[in-house]
Amino acid sequence: MNIFLFTIDCLRYDMVRHELMPFLTKLGREAVFFQNAFAPAPWTAPSFKSIFTGQEPFDQGGKMNIYGYETITKVLKKEGYATYAVHSNPWLTRKFGYEEGFDVFFDSLGEDLDGQPYLRTKAFLQKCTDSLDAAKDKQKVFFWAHSMDLHDPFLPSEQSFKKLFPDENYDFVRVNDLNKKYSKGLEFQDPSLLESKELGDIKKLYEASAIDVDFILQEFIKRAEEIFTGQENLFIILADHGEQFAEHGGLAHGLYHYEELIHVPLIFYSKDLGLKNRAIRDLVSLLDIFPTIAELAGLQLAWQSLKGKSLSKLLKGKFSWRKHRKFVVSQEGRKDYTGITKQNPEQAHLGKEFLSFSVRDQRHKFIYKELGASEMLKIKQGIEYPVKQQKKFLKLASNIKEEIRKSPDFKETSNAVDSAEIKQKLQDLGYM
Ligand SMILES: [Zn+2]
Repeated sequence: MNIFLFTIDCLRYDMVRHELMPFLTKLGREAVFFQNAFAPAPWTAPSFKSIFTGQEPFDQGGKMNIYGYETITKVLKKEGYATYAVHSNPWLTRKFGYEEGFDVFFDSLGEDLDGQPYLRTKAFLQKCTDSLDAAKDKQKVFFWAHSMDLHDPFLPSEQSFKKLFPDENYDFVRVNDLNKKYSKGLEFQDPSLLESKELGDIKKLYEASAIDVDFILQEFIKRAEEIFTGQENLFIILADHGEQFAEHGGLAHGLYHYEELIHVPLIFYSKDLGLKNRAIRDLVSLLDIFPTIAELAGLQLAWQSLKGKSLSKLLKGKFSWRKHRKFVVSQEGRKDYTGITKQNPEQAHLGKEFLSFSVRDQRHKFIYKELGASEMLKIKQGIEYPVKQQKKFLKLASNIKEEIRKSPDFKETSNAVDSAEIKQKLQDLGYM
C-alpha cells in the first residue's frame, strides 16, 4: 500500500465548503470524513510532533525537535517503504529532526524560493510531482507533502483573489500592505491595530488561498493516482491547526485553544480500501494518525507506548460513535517561555513558565489559562458560548495539569533556534 499524507498548514475546519474548496468538500463526502478531529496543539511544531510521533506535544516549547523519537517515517522505512517529503515550513526541517527516516527530503533549506516566504502553489505542486515521478518505480511509498499556502503572508493567485474580490483588480501592493498590517497586529497580538474592513479583507485573502490549495490538492491526487495506478493507494488529508482572525482577541495561531485554532479537517480517501461515503462524528485527535497508518500498513508496533489510538476500526465502520475518545486535549506549554512572536509583554509571559490547555468533549470545552482567566465553554455549531464551570472538567483539567508538570520534557529549557537561515525563514512567516 502506498500512503500519501497531504497536510495543509493553518486550514480551519470551516473552510471546507463548496464555494472555497469544492474538490475537498466533494472528497469529504465520497471518502471518510472525520467531522470532529482536533489538533493536539494550536500551532505547527507541537502539532506535527504529535502527528509524527503519536506522543503528547507538551514538551514542544522546551524541545520542538523530534530527534530520537520513533516516528511514523522510521517505522515505515524499517518495513521497506520508500519515503519522500516535500515542504517549506522551517519548523519541520532537518534542523528539527524531520528528515530522519526519509530517503528524499525537500525542506527548502538552502534553496532559492524566488524571494517567496515559502514554496507557493504551482512551485509546490511542481516539486511534489517531480518527487512523485521519481518514486514511480517503487512498490511501497510513503509520501508527505505539506502545503504552506494558507500560512501568512497570504498570497493568493490572481485568479483566486478575483473570486473573493470580484470588483477589484489584483493589486500586489494592496495584498502586500494588508499582509504587513496583519503582521503588525500579530507582532503585538493586538487586532485593534487593524480596522475591521482590513481584518475582513485579510480573512478574504486567507480564503482565496484556500481556493488555491484545493486546486493543488486535486492535482496532487490526480497525479499520484496516475503514477501509481494499479496499486493500493491511501490518501490522508489533514491540517495541523487552524487560524484565528480576532474571533477571541488573537491573530494567527498558537497560545490558546478555541475552535478556529484546533478543529481541523481530517479525511481518509482510498478507492482501494473501501473507504467511502462516511462522515464520522467521534472525537479524534491527530495523535491518532501514527497508530492508524501503522495499523493500516499492517505493522506490528508497541502500541502501548503511543498516546494516539488507531482509527482503523472507525474507518472500517466497526465502532459506534462517541466511543473512540471521551475527550480530546490540546496543549501549549513550556518551562521558559520565549514567545513565538514579539508580543505585547503582558501577554507574552516572557521568561516565565507558561502552560495552557483545553479539554473538550462533544459539547463542552474547558480552557485552562495559567496567566489569565480559565474558560468553560459550550459549543454549538462551531460557536463557543461561556457557561458555568463544570466539576467534571475541573477534575479532568487538574489531572491533565499534574501530568504535564510531571513530564520531564516540560521541564526542559527552551529550544534555541541557532540557525540564521531558520531564523530568517521564521521571520518571513511572522514568527520571532
Ligand atoms: Zn502550522
